[in-house]
Amino acid sequence: MEKTKCIIIGSGPAGYTAAIYASRANLSPVLYEGDQPGGQLTTTSIIENFPGYPDGVNGNDMMSDLRSQAEHFGADIRFGSISAVDFSKVPYKLTVDDGTVIEADTVIISTGASAKYLGLEDEKKYAGRGVSACATCDGFFYRNKVVAVVGGGDTACEEAIYLSGLASKVWLVVRKNYLRASDIMQKRVRENPKIEILFNCNVYGLTGDGKVQGMKVVRNVGTQEEERFEHNIDGFFLAIGHKPNSDIFSQWIETDKTGYIKTYEGTPRTNLPGVFAAGDVADPHYRQAITAAASGCKAAIEAERFLQK
Ligand code: NDP
Repeated sequence: MEKTKCIIIGSGPAGYTAAIYASRANLSPVLYEGDQPGGQLTTTSIIENFPGYPDGVNGNDMMSDLRSQAEHFGADIRFGSISAVDFSKVPYKLTVDDGTVIEADTVIISTGASAKYLGLEDEKKYAGRGVSACATCDGFFYRNKVVAVVGGGDTACEEAIYLSGLASKVWLVVRKNYLRASDIMQKRVRENPKIEILFNCNVYGLTGDGKVQGMKVVRNVGTQEEERFEHNIDGFFLAIGHKPNSDIFSQWIETDKTGYIKTYEGTPRTNLPGVFAAGDVADPHYRQAITAAASGCKAAIEAERFLQK
């Protein structure tokens, strides 16, 4: 059976940064990229807040650079996902989705988070036919069409702005009477003539013959002013937050009630010795590329120190 000193699960900024540091520390890390190589940033358009890029950087380009940097120092980067783990004893056992089992002395979990959906039956019914959680992946199909984005955070604003560059009209459906997004994003949305905000609104259904053609909206639900209406749309985008990808670890690793892996004392240490968590899977608060990269760095340093002991 293959054995490694350090296995890294996931290929976002946390995973690749951990791989850079672990390789330079001679840990010969093996990194499994997961279902979405490069992680969430490959679905974003331009990253404007990562230090060092005054003109912003394309998400795919940045992830490709991080991957090359990790490879340059000798990280063994592999296609595939870890589908199961056995953390009952050291060395830890990890099963890859092709059935291979690998033993590892240290594990860095950087599996990120996945987009949440509203939970409507219609989201499944129209999956791939007008429903999407990634504007930069699918926006192209909505040129000169009408789309809706659900959510009031930075992601929703960013997606709405991106889509406004393609679509003829963007409805931004916000369940409260305010946006949660940062001031700069709110300003951009409000000043964008193609974006119209529907405050106090929830989408409760989608309509259409084989593909999305409309959304059913309720305003002020549960109050005396409750009203229901429909808008014609061609695309329906979710931007209501993310769920940490921690399910396969939760039997062994402590998580909070949402599933974020608990880490201790401001470090990437989990409740298991030699198992570290970095990036969005362990971060309900910041969830930025730069904070993910920083925690990946910390996890690799922790792994190195753990192995030295
Ligand atoms: P957030 O958790 O910040 O926002 C989620 C939004 O979705 C909120 O408006 C929330 O409403 C709404 N929502 C949640 N569940 C539902 C539901 N069932 N129905 C309707 N609306 C719902 O998530 P984001 O993904 O926007 O951002 C996550 C983090 O990433 C934040 O810290 C953000 O600042 C950061 N980020 C930064 C960016 C940047 O700086 N360029 C870009 C993107 C993200 P409510 O307010 O009522 O809870």
